[in-house]
Amino acid sequence: MPRTPAIAAALVTAALVTAAVAWHPADQFATVRRAIGLGPDRPLPAPTVVRAGGTYTWAMTQPGSTDPVGWDPCEEIRFRVNPAGAPPGGRRLVDEALRRVSAATGLAFQDEGETEDRPFADGVRLFGRPDPVVFGWGDADEYPELGGTVAGVGGGVAERSPGGRVRYVSGSVVLDVEAFTAANVAQQPRVMEAIVLHEVAHVVGLGHVSEPMELMYSDNTGQVELGPGDREGLARLGSLPCR
Ligand SMILES: [Zn+2]
Repeated sequence: MPRTPAIAAALVTAALVTAAVAWHPADQFATVRRAIGLGPDRPLPAPTVVRAGGTYTWAMTQPGSTDPVGWDPCEEIRFRVNPAGAPPGGRRLVDEALRRVSAATGLAFQDEGETEDRPFADGVRLFGRPDPVVFGWGDADEYPELGGTVAGVGGGVAERSPGGRVRYVSGSVVLDVEAFTAANVAQQPRVMEAIVLHEVAHVVGLGHVSEPMELMYSDNTGQVELGPGDREGLARLGSLPCR
């Protein structure tokens, strides 16, 4: 498939990680729900984990363990989109990437609408409700990580829950306006969607692999589908126990 120079691009992640000891109200509600016999419920069923010989890695592991850090599958992952700088069809790329990650993980995403917040803005509210995941578009002046051929950056923000497990509670994806042009989105929608999909996979907990057949290979070489290791890793991340 022909590729434009801008999207024959390396994709990197900044796994933005904030591990902190903090409570937020959801923990207290979860405790109350268990105390009155209402176990935590998944909004969507857990996925089937298929071992197909692919490769995957975790963006972050539990302290002193090889177990992955992931989201609580009993909570919806709240997100907002900052439309500033988005190309025509940009929002649809985000929605499609989220739909595909939800299908692969059994994690549910909750659309909280648009925001003026910037991706990777400082901090996450640890002593209150965590900020939603923010999607947006930016350039290398604002995000130096987008310099060169990097087309997107994504990562989760984690915190330590009272039970000691580290969980993602927020995250960000920023997409490079130089790659996400109207022309690229119109002419190469599947490739551009795959770049967003790669970044969302970082937000839910996958790291990079050195296998070019996987979408979590650090460079996009025209791969538009999830590979076998991507699928297994996403299914495992979506199968973690509820808090
Ligand atoms: Zn990446």
